[in-house]
Amino acid sequence: MAKPTPADDVIREQCTTCEKTRPHDVTIELLTESGKDTNRKFSREPYHIAECRNCGTTTKLRLNNA
Ligand SMILES: [Zn+2]
Repeated sequence: MAKPTPADDVIREQCTTCEKTRPHDVTIELLTESGKDTNRKFSREPYHIAECRNCGTTTKLRLNNA
């Protein structure tokens, strides 16, 4: 799991819930997807996951959009 981000090295991203730029805990995770691809039953895709430190909203952004 991700280690806590030092306070002076915080990642700030736009939070749709806060509607402001907030500090986020950002990790990259491989999530298993199923059903969408016809050539593969399951695929593991990298996701950029950001959790707002203010409200706890988690935003997932798929990195591989091919
Ligand atoms: Zn937020």
